[in-house]
Amino acid sequence: MTDRPARPARADTRDTIELRQVKADHPELASAVDMQIELVDVQRRVQARVPLPWIQYPDGWLEAQVLAGRAAVRFGDIPLEWSDFRLSLRQNADILYRFEAMDRADHEQILALSRDGNALEPLVTQWYRATSHGEDSNPDARLPDTAPAILDQVFVLALRPFLARCAEALLPRSEFNDWHRAYCPACGWEPDFAVITPGADRRLICGRCIGQWGFDPLACPFCGNGERSRITSFASRDGRYRVYGCDVCLKYLKAYDARNAARPLMVAVDTIATLPLDAAAIQRGYSG
Ligand SMILES: [Zn+2]
Ligand SMILES: [Zn+2]
Repeated sequence: MTDRPARPARADTRDTIELRQVKADHPELASAVDMQIELVDVQRRVQARVPLPWIQYPDGWLEAQVLAGRAAVRFGDIPLEWSDFRLSLRQNADILYRFEAMDRADHEQILALSRDGNALEPLVTQWYRATSHGEDSNPDARLPDTAPAILDQVFVLALRPFLARCAEALLPRSEFNDWHRAYCPACGWEPDFAVITPGADRRLICGRCIGQWGFDPLACPFCGNGERSRITSFASRDGRYRVYGCDVCLKYLKAYDARNAARPLMVAVDTIATLPLDAAAIQRGYSG
């Protein structure tokens, strides 16, 4: 009989440990936390296989893009390995289905799509081009009418490990210090969360690539309303989070308040820990 070593348990990441704590504090969020732990795990495993891209631009190109308000990452810049992307697509779709965030028909359609490279590749290319604030972008043409509505969300999750690498490689460049638009300078997607820095600046967080950029501390990124009296801002009871509700377009944005915080922002944790704030915002008449 040979002594086979036990398979080592998967090392808990900082995200996972914090997410378990959220579940302990808020048992009503158990299912959302469990789903997030699985999504984060897929993202981490796929992203570990994606090389940090070396994106080179001609002299002056990036400055011109920033000035024109065009996002920097073109589809061809993404270090996309299609077999890894298909795996990412399938695994994310499986998780959403298992946690009942997706119905069976949509799940089957997305799995079929993941197996059909001839259909998938042009669809993803078109979806990214249409939504990335590039030269030829048109968000209305992102997906064909026959695509399931949830495909947008699944593409966001499946492409995230690849785009996050692009944001990681590019956004430290000084050209982006001048970017204060309402959408992401790397991939052109809209913000999904924000962080208030210890210096009281506000940075928006991209809902697709997790990139960050500086933005007005109060103005609404969804409609541009900057009138203080028409922004309603309130904090969570423990002071860790803040919500900005726009009284013009009625959308809201959540933020992690890193002033006096014990740890830095953890997007995967903080978006879930603030689910009770979504309920509070919706109760006040705002919509996500
Ligand atoms: Zn982005
Ligand atoms: Zn607004």
